[in-house]
Amino acid sequence: MTPKQKYNEITANRVIQAFKKRNIEGYYCADKAEALKKALEIIPEGSSVTWGGSQSIAEIGLCDSLKNGKYELYDRAQAKDSAQLDEIYRKAFSCNFYISSSNAVTLDGKLVNIDGIGNRVSAIIFGPDNVLLIVGINKVCDDEADALKRVKNKAAVMNAYRLNLNTPCSKTGSCVDCLSDECICSAIVVTRRASRPGRIKVIIVGEELGY
Ligand code: SF4
Repeated sequence: MTPKQKYNEITANRVIQAFKKRNIEGYYCADKAEALKKALEIIPEGSSVTWGGSQSIAEIGLCDSLKNGKYELYDRAQAKDSAQLDEIYRKAFSCNFYISSSNAVTLDGKLVNIDGIGNRVSAIIFGPDNVLLIVGINKVCDDEADALKRVKNKAAVMNAYRLNLNTPCSKTGSCVDCLSDECICSAIVVTRRASRPGRIKVIIVGEELGY
């Protein structure tokens, strides 16, 4: 094991220990392939599944595996218009599994997420029976202040680039706390705990994933 691998594993296990007192179930997987295997173990065949916009879940190959498997999928990419997209967003609340990443995770086990419409943070808070988050080790932050800095100055800015948005940060490269029409930071949510034990499951991957 390289020093980096050792550091990643120990860091992830610190977070997983902290999750326990917050009713969040945590797992550590050293790489993408292991994370994909674990995710598919967690989601039983036949489950109804949907996901939020996330590079991380695509990067481990989870979307493709689910599409090729025996699941009842609600794929936002298949929506033909905004009405269908809204329908899929609402359907998430009654699904067995909602899959996403988390924009940041703190060493003491909090999840920090930023959202433009709010469908993703809503589903993390309430609705789907299970929430499965795939989180690269690059998203582990020292504390809540560090996580808030990360979600606004890195995750949101990178997503603004990805979505080709006309926001101030897409020009300056850092957050100026805008209220522009295309702002993707309508809601910032800190999940301190899961009220139902085990409803939120987090796989921390010992590799960089997403933004
Ligand atoms: S500048 Fe606006 S869109 Fe960009 S990160 Fe800040 S609040 Fe979000």
